[in-house]
Amino acid sequence: MSENEHLYQERIPIFPRSVKGRFRSLKWGVLILAYGVYFLLPWLRWERPVGPNQAIIFDLEGRLFHIFNLTVHPQDIFWLAGFLMLAALLLFFVTGVAGRVFCGYFCFQTLWTDVYILIERLVQGERPARIRLSKQPWNLDKLRKLGLTHLLWLLVAFLTGLSFVLYWGNAPDLVVQFFTGQAPFPAYATTLFLTATTYVMAGLAREQVCIYMCPYGRFQSVMFDKDTLVISYDQPRGEGSEGRHKIAKGYKTQEERREHGAGDCIDCGYCVQVCPTGIDIRNGPQLACIQCALCVDACDNIMDGLGWERGLVGYKSEREIEGGKTRFLKFKSIGYGIAISIVLGLTVWSMLNQSTFDLHVLKVRQPLYVTLSSGEIQNSYELKLNNKTDHDVTMRLEISNLDNAKVDFGRFQEVVIKPEKTLRIIARVKMAPVPGMPKRQNFVFRARPIGQDDVQLVESPARFFIP
Ligand code: SF4
Ligand code: SF4
Repeated sequence: MSENEHLYQERIPIFPRSVKGRFRSLKWGVLILAYGVYFLLPWLRWERPVGPNQAIIFDLEGRLFHIFNLTVHPQDIFWLAGFLMLAALLLFFVTGVAGRVFCGYFCFQTLWTDVYILIERLVQGERPARIRLSKQPWNLDKLRKLGLTHLLWLLVAFLTGLSFVLYWGNAPDLVVQFFTGQAPFPAYATTLFLTATTYVMAGLAREQVCIYMCPYGRFQSVMFDKDTLVISYDQPRGEGSEGRHKIAKGYKTQEERREHGAGDCIDCGYCVQVCPTGIDIRNGPQLACIQCALCVDACDNIMDGLGWERGLVGYKSEREIEGGKTRFLKFKSIGYGIAISIVLGLTVWSMLNQSTFDLHVLKVRQPLYVTLSSGEIQNSYELKLNNKTDHDVTMRLEISNLDNAKVDFGRFQEVVIKPEKTLRIIARVKMAPVPGMPKRQNFVFRARPIGQDDVQLVESPARFFIP
């Protein structure tokens, strides 16, 4: 490393210019949808026989997650594994086909940074005005504009944090409790944490999160292949044989430019000015490019204005740049498609066939068995009965496949379990050992519904030990 090179690169402030176009409109659409879902969902009411009437609520106290008509119990945690797998596969699939579309359109960092830049523009003005403001000495006007910008950023950050908390309690009650100082401590701590991180990430750090902090940005290129669409600059068309040239006398029409060996890039710099990460896409694909496609809109606008063909900057695959045709139907995409269908199918099937009642048996192992004064051997078990219905369920408990054994459920031989509740009971199984008896015997615990059609008989295997 030479003396002039440093490990720390000072940040150069970026003031993105606004742009209109099809990709910008698409991004606004995604943003409005994402914000609508995130901020409004906790307020959506949903009648259910048991539990809070909030469409989506993560009830930590009751250890239940309510998502519209679906109630997720702790034992359904493998659904989460299914969804995580699905998210990962979708990400691989989409990245393989269309590059970093997740970064450019759907990532929280992009969505929140977009709104923060919008606020900055509405308060301070377009790019030239913001650059002027940042350079001018401190005065009342600068203080007012920057103060208002940061205040609005903090407000958005606070609403983001508070909305997240509202998913974990009854939103209308929780808001009142929050502002009257009666909400639980984690509600304040979480809101504060998310307010601070949102403000720092979307307001202060912005593109630095994508360039230096995000791990996905680092490894996404391993998912690319020759057919992956990435934002690229058509260098042969833009540069010609003599390079780019501004519009000037003798360089106004495409014919004139070609005569001089100049390409179609008029070096207006619009594509660089709109870039939220401050890069010049004409220098080739770069790690900092989140593929937001705003430079495509910018260049398309310039081309439209000149009456020239669009696409000097656009989505292109390496194969297309080399003169070939992009192949979308490839072995990798088909493989991902099949894997996505299987995981999605299994997860949805499991949800549709969710049991209405669960019985889990855990052997008490300390001690493994007890020899009673009568000579009988006793094993103990913890039974967990989980009623997932919205009404009381009466169950009769019994064991099967263990000849000559006696079982003691205490006063819980026949038990009523409240809706969405779990009951834990201890069962003691006794048996007189006879010579030649195996040291371990498998049997089953059974919970038999009494007078309920919507609940099936459930069984759980167990094992009896003798010395
Ligand atoms: S180079 Fe273009 S696509 Fe990449 S981040 Fe900048 S504006 Fe977005
Ligand atoms: S917007 Fe298009 S014409 Fe203007 S500098 Fe960028 S690539 Fe060249």
